[in-house]
Order: sequence, then structure tokens, then C-alpha cells
Amino acid sequence: MEESHDLIYLDNAATTMTYKEVVDEMMDYFTDLYGNPSSVYEFAGKSRKAMEDARSLIADTLGAKKEEIYFTAGGTESDNWALRSVSKEFGSKGKHIITSKIEHPAIMNTAGNLEELGFDVTYVNVDENGFIKLNELERAIRKDTILISVMAANNEIGTLQPIREIGRIARKNNIVFHTDAVQMYGQLPIDVNEYNIDMLSASAHKFHGPKGIGFLYVRESVPVSSFIYGGGQENHKRAGTQNVPGIVGMASAAGIAHKRMEEKRIQETWLRNYFVNRILKEIPFSRLNGDRNRRLPGNVNISFQFVDASELLASLDMKGICASSGSACSSHSTKPSHVLEAIGLPENLIYSTIRMTLSESTTKEQLDYVVEVLKEISSEYRENSSEYAECFAF
Ligand code: PLP
Repeated sequence: MEESHDLIYLDNAATTMTYKEVVDEMMDYFTDLYGNPSSVYEFAGKSRKAMEDARSLIADTLGAKKEEIYFTAGGTESDNWALRSVSKEFGSKGKHIITSKIEHPAIMNTAGNLEELGFDVTYVNVDENGFIKLNELERAIRKDTILISVMAANNEIGTLQPIREIGRIARKNNIVFHTDAVQMYGQLPIDVNEYNIDMLSASAHKFHGPKGIGFLYVRESVPVSSFIYGGGQENHKRAGTQNVPGIVGMASAAGIAHKRMEEKRIQETWLRNYFVNRILKEIPFSRLNGDRNRRLPGNVNISFQFVDASELLASLDMKGICASSGSACSSHSTKPSHVLEAIGLPENLIYSTIRMTLSESTTKEQLDYVVEVLKEISSEYRENSSEYAECFAF
């Protein structure tokens, strides 16, 4: 326990390390091939070609056409754009939007803003593992429903939504289907045609690409409105000089992710199961949130009853272990996680929950060390916990 360890990074759902080979590919587009892709001379044509090759590569990973990929500044922008675009383009047909109770704030807060603008939003419930209730979703559909937006995988508990079924329901009812695939793209395969996805958001820094770059896929047959007004970039829909190094880096990371996807999935799933099994077996009063199997390969979300999550995270930090409490801060003074609330976790457990997310560079030795640290910290906290003492007083 006392031996010193290097940093153990278990927060890959927050962001990932940019691969060295990705950075190497980007470098040329800062220092040598720095032309503006909209300029007409040959030198700039090289930037334009790199950008269009990146667009084609990304389209191929989804079974999409290159014209259907729009570069953005990341997942938040893609989500904002998707919802706003549908509200503008289809607002005259209807003003009803369906989403789920466990979306990322990028969707939740955009939907909230659309409500202020006169849209009606239904937030469909999820079950105790975080799966959207499909019968409730179907029942929520109305004549004026213009959009269903449900995330592909949850950022806190890793639950993989039945996007194939959701896509089928949306298509049958002639409703646009958007999915926030920020956590899933690059981890698991997605085919927009197989799943009837009309719009999809992704972000490079979640799959070992650079921060501040992402894309929005929009099916050719779905009209899309301008998000940022200005020049004619991105087919006049998203103005502003494109972030060529970022785009090149995102495509490079997407290529690597798709090449190594299956191998990575198997390795991370094995490690995750090993880690979860050890924790549940060796640490009393621990509980896994989300489905045991239908979750992101690297996602571990555990409640340690009688332990305060913010104190646990601080103690882990002191040992060089980076973990998080999900998207919302878990200190008692702030709001509890809406995802954990939606799966029906009692408040005391919500404030005892941490998220640890693995990557392909996570090792079994690191996880063994983390289990030992968790054991030690949780038993220390419980010894000092009045709640724990009361529970066992006789
Ligand atoms: N959607 C989901 C599901 C996410 O997990 C995140 C980031 O945590 C985002 C959207 C926002 O992405 P970005 O950080 O690229 O703005």
C-alpha cells in the first residue's frame, strides 16, 4: 500500500489522452500546411484536401456520406445544433420533442431553453439500470412530435440504450431521431443506416483525439439550419475557418479507434469485470450502478454506502488516482446527479457514488492497487461514520 505509484487515470469518460501519433499528424497542419482551407491557391488546397479526407474517413466509420458530416467545436455544440436545427426546420410542423431523463446537460439544458421558447418536451423515464422505457417512449409520441433525442451511451453509468429500437420507432412515426453518441462513438460500432439515426453527435477528446473538435452527422434528407452565421464554410451551415489540425487529429483518432475497436472492447470489458467483481466481493456495502453487461466497456460506477463520495475522491486524489462523481458534483451542497436520481438510487447512495472509467492503457496491476486503496479508505470512513455506527448499534 505504501509503495509509490505513478498517476492512475480512471476518468476516461471525462476526457482521454490524445494519442502521440494523433498529435504527430496534427503538427504539420500548424507549422507547414497552415493554409486556410477556403483559400483558392494550391498551398491552401493541401489543407482543404486533408480536411475533406478526414470528412470521408469519419463518414465511412458510420456508413454515412461525406456531405452528411459537419465539423463542430465538440459534443456540446453538436447537441445544441441538432436540437436547435430541428426546432427551426420543423417548428411549423410541431412543437413537441421527446428525450430521456438521463441525458447530458448539453441536451438537457438545450431542451430546457427550447421549452422557454415555447416547445413542449417530454423527458421519458428510465428503469433501474438506466434503460429508456420503450413503451413510455412510444406512448409519448404525438401528432406534433418533431424529434426524438436519446443518447447512445450514458456518461455516468455507461448504460447502452436500445438505439436500434428507438430508431425503428422514430422512422415508423416519421420523426427525426438524434442520438448523442459522444460516449459511444469510437468505443463501439455504429451504423447510421442500420439504426435509422438521422443526426448524431460526437467529440474527438473522448476517443483519444484533441479537445475542442467534434462533428454532427445529419442525414441528407433532413433539412439543417445554420448554427453560426458568417462565411460559407461547412456548406453554409457552420461558419468560421475550420480547425484543420483538430479535424486531422479527430480523423486520425477515429481511424485508430475503429481499427482497434474489437480488441480494445474485449480487453476493457475483461478488466472492467475483473475490477467490479473484486470491489463487490471485497468491499462490503458496495453496489454497481447500471447494467452489469450492457454498458460501455470501460465504465465502472459504484456506490460505497456510508462513504462520502467527495471525500473518497479527495483521498484517491492524494494517492494519485483520478476518478469522478459523474457529471454533477457530489458534494452535499450541490445538486445530486440527475442520472442516479432517475434510476431511483436513494439520496444517501447518490452521495456515496463514484465513477471510474478505464482505457486501453489501464492495467490489472493499477486496478489491483486501486482496490486496495478503496478498501482501506472505505473502512477508515466507515469507522468514523455515525450513520454506519447507528446502523450496527444493538
Ligand atoms: N454528451 C455526452 C454524453 C458527454 O459525455 C459529453 C462530455 O462529457 C458531452 C456531450 C459534451 O462534449 P464536449 O465535452 O465535447 O462538449
